[in-house]
Amino acid sequence: MQGFTTDEAFAAELDAADPLAPLRERFHVPPETVYLLGNSLGLQSRDAEQAVTRAMGEWRDRAIGGWLDADPPWFWLAERLGARAAKLVGAEPDEVVCTGTTTYNVHSLAATFYRPSGRRTRILGCALEFPTDLYALGSQLRLHGLDPREHLALVGAADDGFVREDELIARMTGDVALVVLPTVLYRSGQLLDVARLAAAARDRGIPIGFDGSHSVGVVPHRFDEWGVDFALWCGYKYLCGGPGAPAFLYVARRHFDRGPGLAGWFGCVKERQFDLAPDFEHARCAGGWQVSSPGILGAAAVDGALAVLEQAGVERVREKSLRLTEYLIRLVDARLADAPYDFRVATPREPQRRGGHVALTREADALRIKEALAPRGVVCDFRPPDTIRLAPSPLYTSFRDVHAAVRHLREVIDGHEHERIDPHRRAVS
Ligand SMILES: *Cc1c(COP(=O)(O)O)cnc(C)c1O
Repeated sequence: MQGFTTDEAFAAELDAADPLAPLRERFHVPPETVYLLGNSLGLQSRDAEQAVTRAMGEWRDRAIGGWLDADPPWFWLAERLGARAAKLVGAEPDEVVCTGTTTYNVHSLAATFYRPSGRRTRILGCALEFPTDLYALGSQLRLHGLDPREHLALVGAADDGFVREDELIARMTGDVALVVLPTVLYRSGQLLDVARLAAAARDRGIPIGFDGSHSVGVVPHRFDEWGVDFALWCGYKYLCGGPGAPAFLYVARRHFDRGPGLAGWFGCVKERQFDLAPDFEHARCAGGWQVSSPGILGAAAVDGALAVLEQAGVERVREKSLRLTEYLIRLVDARLADAPYDFRVATPREPQRRGGHVALTREADALRIKEALAPRGVVCDFRPPDTIRLAPSPLYTSFRDVHAAVRHLREVIDGHEHERIDPHRRAVS
């Protein structure tokens, strides 16, 4: 980062040189707020707001006619959104669909790809994965009468807190029937080498899938080229699709004939869905993995949100994201590493190993410091036991926001503000 200095003027220079800076105007950024939770709930764009308003109008004016006559028609909306999101992950348009929820899609794809036989009974995952994915995989094992304590094999972190691809690959042994891993670890922000892991799994004949919740929309992927078998990701983080937005799933074309492990009528061959035949024939595309009628109002928000991302272009988004996180890391090293601040960067410094957010750890008081930031308008989160996560979104976070967050962190500690915070936790953080 050429000419790096810690003063605000440098942040202003970075903002002035940022080609994506004008996109911030498309978002409802809460006033007086430095919003650094793009990895948890992305902000509402005017585009998403307008798309939902339009869908409400179509429901009002067309009623059931909206399934075929709305613009775009509701009947194909999930596939259309999938085709647009496919560009974010390097897939063909019919390999992605907007459906389900993140955890639901873990179930659906595990039910499709987990085929234990003989000695191959284990599912390999990552111990640092967001727990809901592990809960889902554990319950899939139980449906086969298997005990997750024995059959869910989890690889944890090395001493430096990061997961080693070597170790994951070494664990892809003859007892493993399925591998499910995160692209980016939700706590540390470490980006795994998806291409290398997929190649290793393919060499060993083990299907492999990824949860891209913490990367899609901020890190480009090339799932087809890398030979990933399946993937799923969340619609409300970097994709800004709104709270509880419908999620996405990817199924590689070579698996279309398999059919979904969990079936429902929206996965039918579209032309025959309304024959309402007793036999289920799945559509030979990712759309075949749909179960129920898509939630059109939620999907409308995703529709609007994708338009902003498409305009930005995911390569440019990644470029800015890396600059934002590099700038943040440089500021933390320069202004928050020494006593009494004592923060440590717990995210990989190499750009190719870094997702979209930065994790800071501090031996004591991380939760109370995060709470003390709230009245100052800095929105970030805490993950036990010692981690504060800061996630700048390239679509609406400025370099000045990042500068301000670091200044607030210093001021909280300078003023001992966190020491006045009641240490009890709130339910959502
Ligand atoms: C955000 C996230 C989820 C969220 O799960 P929901 O089913 O949408 O509540 C799941 N897994 C990972 C890895 C996530 O990052």
